[in-house]
Amino acid sequence: MAHDDVITLRYQVARRAQAQWAAVPAAQRARQLARAADWMLDHADEVIATIVHENGKRPVEALGHELSASVANIRWLCEHGPAALRPQDVPLPLMPHRRAELRREPWGVVLVIAPWNFPLSIPLGHVFAALLAGNAVILKPSEITPTIGALIDDILADCGLPANLVGLVQGDGKVGQRLIAGRPDKILFTGSLATGRKVMEAAAAVPIPVCMELGGVDAMIVLPDADLDLASSAAVWGSMFNGGQVCASVERLLVHESIREAFVGRVVDKARSLEPATDLGRITAPRQRDVYDRHLADARERGLTIRCGGDYCTPDTLAPTVVEGEGIEDAAVYREETFGPMLAVRSFRRDDDAVRMHEELDGGLTASVFSRNEARAAAVASRLSAGLVSINDVAATLHALPQLPWGGVGSSGFGRSHGIEGLVALTRSKVVDTPRAGGLGFKRPWWFPYDATQREVIAAHARLVGSGSLRKRARAAADLGRSTLRLLLRHPRL
Ligand code: NAD
Repeated sequence: MAHDDVITLRYQVARRAQAQWAAVPAAQRARQLARAADWMLDHADEVIATIVHENGKRPVEALGHELSASVANIRWLCEHGPAALRPQDVPLPLMPHRRAELRREPWGVVLVIAPWNFPLSIPLGHVFAALLAGNAVILKPSEITPTIGALIDDILADCGLPANLVGLVQGDGKVGQRLIAGRPDKILFTGSLATGRKVMEAAAAVPIPVCMELGGVDAMIVLPDADLDLASSAAVWGSMFNGGQVCASVERLLVHESIREAFVGRVVDKARSLEPATDLGRITAPRQRDVYDRHLADARERGLTIRCGGDYCTPDTLAPTVVEGEGIEDAAVYREETFGPMLAVRSFRRDDDAVRMHEELDGGLTASVFSRNEARAAAVASRLSAGLVSINDVAATLHALPQLPWGGVGSSGFGRSHGIEGLVALTRSKVVDTPRAGGLGFKRPWWFPYDATQREVIAAHARLVGSGSLRKRARAAADLGRSTLRLLLRHPRL
């Protein structure tokens, strides 16, 4: 069968399974999905070994950012999600004869397109939230980490889900495009800005709603009164954990000029002390080398200073690299996402300058501010455009805190996953409005026929609902009563 036929079939069977799944109460769906957390803990060694083998990250990172983050997310979703999905009565004070119920209905089939850098926790978080909300899922893992993507099938195997509720489709960007052409009801995309644009373009043709989780050049701002030891460790970890292959990596270090030398010196010493084999992991996607080489060549051409690193310490590991110098603000290493263990340093004089430098580049997923004066740090933090700003910490939540929404601004994307906000975004709201007992039996005054008395009724109603003064509202209520009575006398069939 041709690939497109397979994809069409995947959607057909997923739609049938979804109808069956959506009829299961959310609390029951949660009980079934929660079994996956136990499976993951029971098979932790196998899961971690698969991630380390295919992705190359350090075992401790596979444990913390993939396994632990995933089980925390599943458990939290299953415990707190059903309440958020429950239908709610919305009070209608001006229409007491009607009852409005707000329902959270699943979209249908959600397409998840995933990257390779957190090859389990990112797709798994999306898949579980979508399923809990009553959707079916088509999942396309990254072509660079297909085996880890396929683990999700094993993780779900004991949950007793309807057959074909989750369809795993492996492949590259071309397959991604075909999957979009298959008309999912919603797309959760995580990847680069360039690919995100293609996904949006294809989705626009239908149109299909999208949630875009993209990259960024996240900044860390170090104010002059920061704890230099804490902040320098944070800068090194924040820019180099997972080999720097993190959407929320510190890519830009903005440091106050008065502490620049002392601070950058510590950062360089700590970066140099990292052990590639135990701390950094390897470059997962070979094409990243092109980005590193281009950014380093550009830095050298501009005469910037490479304070440490700047070359490969093993065939598949870039040495921890710190770059600074006059004119860095125009360099690729500063302006573009490097997605490697590389840090670009720039200094500022006033807090306002740090904010301006942060805002000069579009987008922001996370940012951080370091200072011993939390009020001062909070004042700076409140002015930064980013989905999450940490004070005296870096990459503090990643996907590991399931309670918090996750997502960026500007070119780092839009839409939110995780938290109640992310779960609710996997539903579309629907209002069902019904008469309350005793509220039936007469036509509405705004129905036909139109006449002058009816206009008076509507004008009095507008004053009643729109006026800011209690006195005017009382007068409008009296007018409304009188005009409604006249209307009823005139048109007894109302
Ligand atoms: P990528 O954009 O190359 O690929 C992401 C996914 O899109 C892959 O599954 C890929 O096969 C698919 N794809 C590629 N071309 C496509 C097309 N034309 N149509 C449909 N799908 C297509 O990104 P990547 O290299 O896998 O991941 C790294 C990027 O992801 C970085 O920019 C990083 O910052 C970003 N990222 C963002 C977040 C976040 O939460 N915001 C998290 C992780 C990674």
